[in-house]
Amino acid sequence: MRYAEPETVEEGLALLAAHDDARCLAGGASLVAMMNAGRVAPGMLVSLHRIPELSDITETGDGLWLGAMCTHRGVAAEPRLRGAMAVVRSAAGQLAHPAIRNMATLGGSVCLADPHTELPAALVAASARAEVAGPGGRRLVPVESLLVDGFRTSLQRGELVTRVFIPRGTDGAVGHHLRFSRVSSDYPTVSLSLVLVMDGDTCRQARVVVGASGPVPLHVDAADQRLVGTRLEEADVAEAGRLLVRAATPLDDVRGSAEYRRMLIPRLLGRALSQAREHAHV
Ligand SMILES: Cc1cc2nc3c(=O)[nH]c(=O)nc-3n(C[C@H](O)[C@H](O)[C@H](O)COP(=O)(O)OP(=O)(O)OC[C@H]3O[C@@H](n4cnc5c(N)ncnc54)[C@H](O)[C@@H]3O)c2cc1C
Repeated sequence: MRYAEPETVEEGLALLAAHDDARCLAGGASLVAMMNAGRVAPGMLVSLHRIPELSDITETGDGLWLGAMCTHRGVAAEPRLRGAMAVVRSAAGQLAHPAIRNMATLGGSVCLADPHTELPAALVAASARAEVAGPGGRRLVPVESLLVDGFRTSLQRGELVTRVFIPRGTDGAVGHHLRFSRVSSDYPTVSLSLVLVMDGDTCRQARVVVGASGPVPLHVDAADQRLVGTRLEEADVAEAGRLLVRAATPLDDVRGSAEYRRMLIPRLLGRALSQAREHAHV
């Protein structure tokens, strides 16, 4: 296996183009574990650690750009991720345990596309877009459409993710993330990320995304719409929960049966909505 440490995105792209079996190395938390288990064997590892622009954080009038190499710890500590954007900060601060949060990166989370993880779901809730660089230049892709299946993205050969844009969202929006796991540092059995806008007691906007309940983060427009215009009474939340459960395709695994996961979804939704409402009124 060969190993390279490019210092610019262009050098990295040239290496990816020159080696059919090249892979980017970000935090390495998952890739190195998969290599150790013999599940992947890249011929060329392209480390992204020495490319300064991949760790940049830039604020614009309408949101925040986070470099692909920002670690979860860095994202969790970013004070500018407020309002709707706080859903990403909240997920990054809760996931896994400190060793993983110190090591693993935002770009690695998106590109791994592991259905058991929660950060991709939080990014979809935030309507985040990824900047993808490749031989043809750079393009912006909604994270929701980058994640096409479990462990599969729409990235083409020779492309890499350079940064992720988190839009500021509507004034007064609240972003919130909740996870249910067997123990605090485990992968979640189910996670739920949401962005909520309240007008007094009435819900003006809702975007709910469930993680670990299908091959990609689960977002159901009809469930969002069922909440909008209501006072988030028990019946409204229960019906939105039913719509999410109907669309979910969870797995049976050591973290819970599919049936158990279906039972958790409406409960997490109810809890996340009431916690988000409390933040909305602060
Ligand atoms: C023990 C453990 C527990 C975890 N628990 C959780 C959890 O509870 N919740 C959660 O959400 N996540 C969890 N994760 C996943 C973690 O958050 C990251 O998603 C994961 O480790 C990948 O990030 P990384 O930076 O380590 O990427 P790597 O392991 O370096 O890379 C992962 C894949 O993405 C590709 N890649 C990386 N960066 C780029 C890029 N910029 N462009 C193109 N391709 C790229 C690599 O080539 C590789 O295929 C856990 C991971 C581990 C190992």
